[in-house]
Amino acid sequence: MHYFNFKKGNLYCENLKVKDLASKFDTPLYVYSAKTILGHFSKLKNAFSTLKPLICYSVKANSNLSLLKLLISQGSGLDIVSGGELYRAKKVKCSAKKIVYASVGKTDIEIRDAVKYGILMFNIESLPELERVNKISKELKKKTKVALRFNPDVKPGTHAYITTGKKETKFGMDEETVKSIFASRAKYSNLSIVGIHMHIGSQITKGEPFVKTFKKANRVIRELKRRGVKLEYLNIGGGLGIVYDNEKPQTAKEFAKKVLPLLKESGLKIVLEPGRFIVGNAGILVTKVIYLKETDQKNFIIVDAAMNDLSRPSLYSAYHKIISLAKAGSKKAIKSADVVGPVCESGDFLGKERKISVKSDGLIAVLGAGAYGFSMSSNYNSRPRVAEVLVKNKKAYLIRKRENYQDLIKGEIVI
Ligand SMILES: *Cc1c(COP(=O)(O)O)cnc(C)c1O
Repeated sequence: MHYFNFKKGNLYCENLKVKDLASKFDTPLYVYSAKTILGHFSKLKNAFSTLKPLICYSVKANSNLSLLKLLISQGSGLDIVSGGELYRAKKVKCSAKKIVYASVGKTDIEIRDAVKYGILMFNIESLPELERVNKISKELKKKTKVALRFNPDVKPGTHAYITTGKKETKFGMDEETVKSIFASRAKYSNLSIVGIHMHIGSQITKGEPFVKTFKKANRVIRELKRRGVKLEYLNIGGGLGIVYDNEKPQTAKEFAKKVLPLLKESGLKIVLEPGRFIVGNAGILVTKVIYLKETDQKNFIIVDAAMNDLSRPSLYSAYHKIISLAKAGSKKAIKSADVVGPVCESGDFLGKERKISVKSDGLIAVLGAGAYGFSMSSNYNSRPRVAEVLVKNKKAYLIRKRENYQDLIKGEIVI
């Protein structure tokens, strides 16, 4: 479900013509739909309503403050992975008791800030980290809640770079380590080890890897209970896939139907950490054609957005639909062209071998760019980061200014 549709041959975001937004805010431009974001949040919330889970939106998918505020206003908590994301969470006044914190490399400063803020829970990824959080909590005279991130060694059937629940990845701990930590929990006087956390990967379109994972988790939970361990939380992470091409990802309802019995069986309070599912298809990247370059071998649509603005195609060979803002009328579609940016890398492309009817100066939109789009953008090739606009209540709000050249050199020191 999303609110980007054609009306009379023009692409709209909710009730606003995307072309007008491009004229007003210039290109390249990220455009988000609040209705779409909230729609996905409610779908997930409703699908799991019988469990009343805590939904912690995964900040790294898209960390713009206005989007965080929008989700928090609906009762969402936040899943963070760095001190910078904690800073953002504080800026939007997210209740500390709705913040969970995962990352394999939390530094002392990051841990201290989060302990002081009193976040709901750390998701612990290694024994040394557990010891560090205990030590810092002791220094601060706090008792800190933690969950152990369990690596279930399950294949999620997604790209290798976004697979996190296989043994050979850096994430979480295996069953033996998890059990042995629980067995020696008394050693960690300033921790309450109260949960199991899992996050097996991203863009997972089927239910089966989740089912496998939760079955393994339930087995571990049962065993721990038998040994007298009192658990409170089961955090099932994020990872739900969306449509980029012609995938048929499970809906929130289908997903819930498959996993609800297993989650109920655990008897624990459930935490969800959705990222991509909430914002992925709630955003597009609007870009202008600079040149059409035709060669004997290949045609190129050269646009003003590049891999520094949206890196998923270059990084994961990810597919994004790319469409012309004006629906093809009589105009002839270009035969087949690679959509590329101005960055000096052959890996700089947004799409390969596409048929798009567009002319020089024409506008095109890269769809499904709401998650891991702007949040992964950089200044590579000294390109200022682009502007972001949120369409909400029939209005377009600028939620991040386009950077300028001064922004590029901010902090640099000439010696
Ligand atoms: C990135 C991440 C998520 C969100 O993943 P999505 O695939 O975007 O839903 C959730 N939990 C953790 C620990 C993560 O690192």
